[in-house]
Amino acid sequence: MKAVLFEAHGGPEVLRYTDLPEPTAGPNDVIVKVRAAAANFNDIWARRGLPGMKVVLPHVSGSDVAGDVVEVGSEVSGVSVGDAVLVHPGLGCRNCQACAAGQEVLCREFRIWGFQTGPNDGGHAEFVRLPGYNVVPKPTNLTYGEAASLPLVLETVWRMLSTRAKVRPGQFVLIWGAAGGLGTMAIQVARVFGAVPIAVVGDEAKVPICKELGAEHVINRQSQDVAAEVMEVTRKRGVDVVFEHTGQATWETSIRCMRWHASLVVCGATSGFEGKTDLRFLWNKQLNLLGSHLGTKAELLEALSFVEMGRIRPVVRTVLPLSEVARGQTMMEERESIGKIVYLPDGSADED
Ligand code: NDP
Repeated sequence: MKAVLFEAHGGPEVLRYTDLPEPTAGPNDVIVKVRAAAANFNDIWARRGLPGMKVVLPHVSGSDVAGDVVEVGSEVSGVSVGDAVLVHPGLGCRNCQACAAGQEVLCREFRIWGFQTGPNDGGHAEFVRLPGYNVVPKPTNLTYGEAASLPLVLETVWRMLSTRAKVRPGQFVLIWGAAGGLGTMAIQVARVFGAVPIAVVGDEAKVPICKELGAEHVINRQSQDVAAEVMEVTRKRGVDVVFEHTGQATWETSIRCMRWHASLVVCGATSGFEGKTDLRFLWNKQLNLLGSHLGTKAELLEALSFVEMGRIRPVVRTVLPLSEVARGQTMMEERESIGKIVYLPDGSADED
C-alpha cells in the first residue's frame, strides 16, 4: 500500500510517499481501508521531534481517518466488514481505573494513535489497523472527507469547552486561532451551548468563515489590540472562558482578558511552551487555569450527535492527494490553512 512516512526528524522534505506492507488484524483489531484522512498540527510536532516525547521511527502520521472496515479480529464485537467508520484516536490500556471509567485520557499509558504510536501505523496510508474499540460509525450526512476532518479536533474541543470549562449560555468565549482546525470547531461548540464566541484571527481573509460559523465578534490580532477589543466588546468585564492552544505568544493577553472567576482552558502551545503568569491575577481574580488533552470516546460520540443534527459542520477548505502531505504540512506551518486539510488516496474522489 502507499503511505507517507519519515525516518528522521526534520522539515517537510523528510516526508516520503512510498510503499509499505498492508497491516493485518490481531484478535482485537479492525483493518480500515482509508477513504480520507486529515492533517493535524500533531503531524508537524512528530515530524519536527518534540523534546520529552518519543516518536517511534519510521513514522506514519495521521490521527484522523474515515473509511470502510475490511477485516475484523476474532474478539471484536459491534463492528462488521463493510461498516463506514471514523476513528477515535485515543488509546488507553483498557484495564486501569481511568479506562474502566471511560476516561482513557487519564490513563498512564494514554497515547494518541498516529502521533505517539508506531512504527508506521498512522492514517496517512491506504490501510490502517486499530483496536475495534477505536472506530465509531461515520455520520451518514457527511462525505468521507468531511467525516475524516472531525474526530481529533471535535473531541478535543468538546472536552475543553463542555467537560472542562463547563461553558454556559450567555458566556463570552475568547477563541484564539479561530479559523484553524480547533478554532472552527470551538466557535460552533460555543454556539451549541448558547455562548458568545469572540474569534481571533491573524489574517483578514479568515474573518468571513468565523462569522459564518457564528462568531459574534472577530478580532484581527495583526491590526487590533486583542485585550482592548475584548474589554470593549464585554463592556470592561472580560471573558468568561479563554480557549487557548497558541501558548507563549498569547498567554499573557489571555490572562489579561479574563473576567473575575473566569476559566482558561488550554490544550496546546503552538508558539512556545512558557506562558508567563502574574500570580496576583490568579488569586485576586480567582481564575481557573485548566489543562485538557484530546477527548474520550464518549465525548466524541456526544459531539457527533450534534454533527448529525446539523448543529456542527465540518470545515474542509483544502483537499489534497495523499502524496501531497508535505504541502499540507507547509500550509499549516505558514498559517495559510482555513479549517481542516483532508488527504484522499491518490486517484480517488471524495464520496458519501
Ligand atoms: P491549525 O494550524 O489548524 O490552527 C492553529 C491556528 O493558531 C492558526 O490558524 C493561527 O491562526 C493560530 N496561531 C498560530 N500561531 C499563533 C501565534 N503565535 N499567535 C496567535 N495565533 C497563532 O492547528 P490546530 O487548530 O489543529 O491545533 C492548534 C494547536 O493545538 C497545535 O499546537 C496542536 O498541536 C494543539 N492540539 C492539541 C490537542 C490536544 O489534544 N492536546 C488536540 C489538537 C490540537 P491565525 O494566524 O489566523 O491567528
